Amino acid sequence: IPADRIRNFSIVAHIDHGKSTLADRILEMTGALAYPLDKQSSQVLDKLSVERERGITVKAQTATIVHEYGGHAYLLNLVDTPGHVDFSYEVSRSLSACEGCVLLVDATQGIQAQTVSNCLLALEEDLEIVPAVNKIDAPAAEPEECARQIEDVLGLGAEALRVSAKTGEGVAALLNAVVERVPPPRTERDTKPFKALIFDAHHDQFRGVVCLCRVVDGSIKAGDRVASCGTGTELEVLEVGLMCPEPTECERLEGGQIGYVVTGMKNSADFRIGDTLRKSVDVGVEALPGFKPIKSMCFGGIFPAATDEYESLKRAIEKLTLNDSSVVVHRESSQAMGPGFRCGFLGLLHMEVFLQRLEEEHGQSVVSTKPFVPLLVVEADGSREREILSPGDWDEVKWGRTTRVLEPVVLATIVCPNTVVGKVITLCHDHRGTQVDHTALGSQRVMLRYRLPLTELAGDFYDSLKGCSSGYATLEYEEAGHEEADLVKLDVRVNGEVVDSLARVVHRDHAFPVGKAMVSRLKKLLDRQAFELALQAVVGSKVVARETLAALRKDVLAKCYGGDVSRKKKLLKKQKEGKKRLKSLGSVNVPVEVFPQLLK
Ligand code: GDP
Ligand code: MG
Repeated sequence: IPADRIRNFSIVAHIDHGKSTLADRILEMTGALAYPLDKQSSQVLDKLSVERERGITVKAQTATIVHEYGGHAYLLNLVDTPGHVDFSYEVSRSLSACEGCVLLVDATQGIQAQTVSNCLLALEEDLEIVPAVNKIDAPAAEPEECARQIEDVLGLGAEALRVSAKTGEGVAALLNAVVERVPPPRTERDTKPFKALIFDAHHDQFRGVVCLCRVVDGSIKAGDRVASCGTGTELEVLEVGLMCPEPTECERLEGGQIGYVVTGMKNSADFRIGDTLRKSVDVGVEALPGFKPIKSMCFGGIFPAATDEYESLKRAIEKLTLNDSSVVVHRESSQAMGPGFRCGFLGLLHMEVFLQRLEEEHGQSVVSTKPFVPLLVVEADGSREREILSPGDWDEVKWGRTTRVLEPVVLATIVCPNTVVGKVITLCHDHRGTQVDHTALGSQRVMLRYRLPLTELAGDFYDSLKGCSSGYATLEYEEAGHEEADLVKLDVRVNGEVVDSLARVVHRDHAFPVGKAMVSRLKKLLDRQAFELALQAVVGSKVVARETLAALRKDVLAKCYGGDVSRKKKLLKKQKEGKKRLKSLGSVNVPVEVFPQLLK
C-alpha cells in the first residue's frame, strides 16, 4: 500500500472520556472485529486486567485497520496511549510513532486536567490534532459549550467533530477527518536503507520478544538480518506482520507502516524500546533520536513477603520491566525486610500499578514501602550535589552548616466546580502549594494551577481532593524543577531500636503529627502481639511521639492440662511453623501480614 494511503494516529483523552470505547467502535466498524462486542465484553485494546479494573490504559496497544475513503482503501494505524501523566513517557513514546492524534473530550464533562496535559504533549510532538466531542448521545451532553472550551482554552483552530463512541454516530466522519487532516508518513522506501523505531515490546509465550516498530525508511521481511543501533546485537527476522489487532503475518513491512517484528530474541537487553533497528549490512545507518530520558519521580522498596520467594520475585520483576522499561531497578537489603529491590517509577500511580501487576500477573506477594520522592543535597555555593533516593541515604550525608535540601516540585492542573474552589485552595495551601493561575472554564468550573512539592501528592492529597469536591475535581501535573525545603528525617524506634524500613523524610512542621500518627497506628497493628513494646518516633535524638504497648502473654500450652505429650508437641510444632511467617521489627518478631499496613 503506498505511503500516501497510510495514516498513523492515536487517541488521547482524559480518563473515562471514551477513548477505549471509541477504539473498539472503530475496530468494529472497520471489520477488524468480525462481531459486535456485547455490553459485558471488555474492551479489546485494554488488555491488562489492571487496566480494566482501574479503567486506565497503562500499556499502549496498537491496531491496524482498513478504512474506505473517496473510493480508496486507507491503512489506518491506531496507536493506543496511556491516559495518565505518570505514563507520559509512554504517551510520548506512542505519539512519536504517529503524525496525528484525535483529542477526545466528553461532552458531559468538558475539558479536564488530563485533556490539557495530553494536548500539550501532542503539540510538543508536532502532531496534527483532530479535536472531537464525545458522548453526544448522552442527555447531559453540552457539545457546543465543550467545543467552545476546546477553542478558547486549548486554542485549537480546527472545528471539533461531534461523535458518540457508544452509538457510532459521527465515527465514520471522524475517520474521514483523520484521512483528510493527518498528514501521510514521510518515507523513502526505495532510495534509503531500512530504518525503524522500536516503540514498544512485549513477551509472547510462543514467539519470544515481539517488537512493535514504526518503519521509517526502506522495508523489511522475514529472513533479513537486522541489528540494533543501540546495542549492536544482530538477529534474523523470523516473522513480520500487522496487529489486526491480533498479530497477523504479512510478507513485508514498508516505510510509513506500523507493525511487529519477531526475532529469536530471548534476552530483553538485546533490543531496547526507543532503539533504532537497521539491516545488518547497512552499517552506516544512524540512530533515530531516542525518547526523553526516563526520570524516576518516586522510589519504593519492594520485598518478597517470604524470604524464600526472592528468586521468583526477581524473575517477575525482570519480566515486567521488559514490558515497562521505564522502571529502574536496584537491589536493596533492609535489616527488617531482608533482601529485596528498590525501584524507581515515573510517578505514584505508576508504582501502584506496577505492584498490582506483580501480584496479579505474576502471582507475587510483596511488601512495599511508602513511595519516596528523591531529594537533592547541595551546599550554599551550589557545590557537592548528591541525591537521596531513600530515607536511609539521609544518614550518609555529611551535614554542614550550609547544607541545603532541594525537593522536586510539580505544576499541578486542577479542574473543579466553582462551588468547591475555596476548599480546593485550602487543600493546596495545607500541602505547601503556591497558586500560579486561576481561569474560568465556562460559567460553572474553574481551572487552577498550583506549584506543589511532589512528595505532598504522595499521601492522601488525591483522596482529599476527590472528597472535598464530591469526586468532581480532576488533577494532573508535570515536573517543575526543585525548590529548597526544611525537611527532617523521622525515625521509628521499637524497644529502642530504629526500624530502617519505617523511616521517613518529612517537612519539619509535619514531624510531630506524622510521628504521632505512625506510632499510634503501629500500636493498633501490634495490639494483639504477645510482647511489651515501647514505640517512639524520633527526629535526630529528640522524641516527638511515643506509645507503650503492654504485654499480652499468649501461652500456647495454657489449654493443655494433664500429660498429653503428643498434643503439646503438636502445638509447639504449629507455633514453630507460625514463626516462619514472622519478620523482625527491631528486636521483636512481627507477623509478615502486618507489614503492608505498617509501611503505608
Ligand atoms: P477511557 O477511560 O477514555 O478509555 O473511557 P472508556 O472508553 O472506558 O469509557 C468510559 C465510560 O464512558 C464507559 O462507561 C463508556 O461506556 C462510556 N462511554 C464512552 N463513550 C460513550 C458515548 O459516546 N456515549 C455514552 N453515553 N457513553 C459513553
Ligand atoms: Mg480506556
